Amino acid sequence: MFDDDRSGLPVHELVGRLDAADPVALLICTVHLTGDLELLRPRWRPELVIGVPEGGYTAEVRAEILRACRAALERVGDGWERRRPGYDMMRRIVEWAMGPSYAAYVPLLTDGLCFRPEDDPGRPRWHRSAVAAGRELRVAVIGAGASGLLLAHRLRQAGVAVTVLERRQDVGGTWYANDYPGCRVDLESQVYRFSGYPGRWTDHYSTQPAVLDYLRAFAKDNGLYEDIRFGSEVLSSRWDTARAQWVLQVRTADGVHEVLADVQVSAVGQLSRPRLPRVPGLGTFSGPFFHSAEWGHSVDLAG
Ligand SMILES: Cc1cc2nc3c(=O)[nH]c(=O)nc-3n(C[C@H](O)[C@H](O)[C@H](O)COP(=O)(O)OP(=O)(O)OC[C@H]3O[C@@H](n4cnc5c(N)ncnc54)[C@H](O)[C@@H]3O)c2cc1C
Repeated sequence: MFDDDRSGLPVHELVGRLDAADPVALLICTVHLTGDLELLRPRWRPELVIGVPEGGYTAEVRAEILRACRAALERVGDGWERRRPGYDMMRRIVEWAMGPSYAAYVPLLTDGLCFRPEDDPGRPRWHRSAVAAGRELRVAVIGAGASGLLLAHRLRQAGVAVTVLERRQDVGGTWYANDYPGCRVDLESQVYRFSGYPGRWTDHYSTQPAVLDYLRAFAKDNGLYEDIRFGSEVLSSRWDTARAQWVLQVRTADGVHEVLADVQVSAVGQLSRPRLPRVPGLGTFSGPFFHSAEWGHSVDLAG
C-alpha cells in the first residue's frame, strides 16, 4: 500500500477513503502503521480462499474492522514513520492471516519490503576490501535479465568487479523479448520488484512495458549499464588451470573474443530460447507463423 508514489498520503486523506479498502489489507497496513498488534483479533482472522473476496467477512464484521482501523489511524495521525516492519511484527501478521505454517516465509516477505530509499535488506553484509583487500576478483555474469541485473548490482555493492555479457541489445531478458499484445505479469506487480528498489506500479498486474521500464530504471539508477557488454553471446567457457581463470568465448559483431573471469555465473534464464512446437505440416505451411516470444508485429491479425 505504501510502497509506491502514494506513500506520502496524509492519514486524514487515507481515513476518508477507508470505505473502499479491502478490509484484510487495511487491517495489516493499520497494524504496520500504528504498531497496534491488538488489531489482529481471532474474530477478524480472514478466510483467504480463492473465490472468497475480501476475507469473507460479514457486513457487520467488515464495518467493525473499518471502525477499528479508522480509530487506530486517527490516533496515530500523520505521526507514523515509514519503516519496515520487524520480523516479529511480520510473524504475528503472517500467522494471524495465513496460519503458523507460513511462518517460514516471514524473512523472505519482510526482506522484500522497503519503504525508504535506504531500506536495502538484501545488500551484501560483506565487502571485498574487508575479506580480500589485495586481491582482484572479476565475475562474469551471463545474461542481463532480472537475475543477471540483480546479481551484478549485489556484487558491485560488495566491491567486486563485474562484466555482464548479454547477447541482446538491452537489459530485461524475457521482458525485453516478449512484447506480444497484452503481455503482462501473472503475479502481483509487487512480487516483481527487487528489495531495495521500490516499484512505481500503476497496475496490479503490470504490463510488459512497465516491467521492462522498471528493469531499465534499476540498471540505470545503479550504474549497471557501464558493466554490461551488449551484443555479446557466450558460446562456451572452459577453466584454464594455468591461469586459474575461466575463459569465455564470446561472439560479438566483430568476431569471437576471449573474456577472462575468476568466477562465472550463468543467468541465462529458462525461457530465453523460444521453441516452436513440432506441428505436423508446419514445414509446408505458406502463411506467417511465429512464437509469442518473437511476435510478428508486421502481421495484420484483424478479422
Ligand atoms: C510473458 C511472461 C510472463 C511471465 N510471468 C512471470 C510471473 O508472473 N512470475 C514469474 O516469476 N515469472 C514469470 N515469467 C518468467 C520470467 O522468465 C522470469 O520471471 C524472469 O524474468 C527470468 O529472468 P532471468 O534473468 O532469470 O532470465 P531471462 O529474463 O530469460 O534473461 C536471461 C538473459 O540471458 C541472455 N542470454 C541467454 N543466453 C545467453 C548467452 N549464451 N550469452 C549471452 N546472453 C545470454 C538472454 O538474452 C536474456 O537477456 C514470465 C515470463 C514471461 C515471458
